[in-house]
Amino acid sequence: MPLFAAFGPALDRSLPGRASAASRFPTVPMPSLDWNEDVARETAHLYERIKAVVPAVEWPFFAPYVKAINALKQERGAVILAHNYQTPEIYNCVADFVGDSLQLAREAAKTKADVIVQCGVHFMAETAKILNPDKTVLIPDRRAGCSLAQSITGDDVRLLRERFPGVPVVTYVNTSADVKAESDICCTSSNAREVVESLGSDKVIFLPDEYLARYVASQTDVKIIAWKGHCEVHERFTADELRSYRESDPAIEIIAHPECPPDVLAEADFTGSTAHMIDWVRKRRPRRVIMVTECSMADNVQAELPDVQFVRPCNLCPHMKRITLPKILDSLVHMREEVVVDPRIAAKARRAVERMIHLKS
Ligand code: SF4
Repeated sequence: MPLFAAFGPALDRSLPGRASAASRFPTVPMPSLDWNEDVARETAHLYERIKAVVPAVEWPFFAPYVKAINALKQERGAVILAHNYQTPEIYNCVADFVGDSLQLAREAAKTKADVIVQCGVHFMAETAKILNPDKTVLIPDRRAGCSLAQSITGDDVRLLRERFPGVPVVTYVNTSADVKAESDICCTSSNAREVVESLGSDKVIFLPDEYLARYVASQTDVKIIAWKGHCEVHERFTADELRSYRESDPAIEIIAHPECPPDVLAEADFTGSTAHMIDWVRKRRPRRVIMVTECSMADNVQAELPDVQFVRPCNLCPHMKRITLPKILDSLVHMREEVVVDPRIAAKARRAVERMIHLKS
């Protein structure tokens, strides 16, 4: 079964009567990918940003792609959005905007660029398309999915509404457009409690992350009806491994993402979204810290804060790691893979996403 089969009928289908991005934009030749003195000189300032986490021996491979992508995105009128879980050479060297899902959704809503290249997973690219129906949204690898997004469909939401009539539905942005379209409002891990409480209801259906739902329930008096979706990356962390880190260094700080299981969060000194975790480290400057989340985020913060020692119980997101420099360049050269959302579903989903964005701003 293809990876995106569970996402629902609106995704990844070309809409009748609409030409593909590849035919709407002029073709361009593949740029040179030679490593030479000119490339070394022109990209030296970018390598400075990541030298703490990317060995010098790897830069001659990355640099020609970085140079070519930065030139081509200008030619295409494109902007690159990169999630905090992208690798350092993407996050630091070709992205125009970086952040968590909420920050990227806000940037997608604001951008004046004609083309958005989403360096993240498919639901993020879909969110960008929902907010920009007239723009071209590309994802360098359409197989970049998400276990949470795959855990639920629009039909599931409709059944839940029948079972709990009148109860508002909050969906995490880690869902397909079809699921967002059935929701009252979206949320991210940055604003989940605020969104839940904004509805003025004593009960909400919160989908699809069970652990985030439990965390929100621990922070509010609103009764939460949850779904059993899990992030395949965060559910791999265990309380035992965190306790053993703490035993070997009692002064170590542990900060965790709320997609982790409750017994893992119980071991943490701080729980927050990726953006809140980064802010916490920037402000507190701990001597040693464990970021209990996807592994690349520690590399990205380490590049910015070389004086902090990051201990990495490394769990990688296989979907985020499908995005690479060669695929980003391929995407800009050939204008693929274009993200398409059925306009009727996009219009319904947009209400839920914009309600969230306007709530915070
Ligand atoms: S880290 Fe988890 S929630 Fe994020 S994209 Fe990967 S599977 Fe989905």
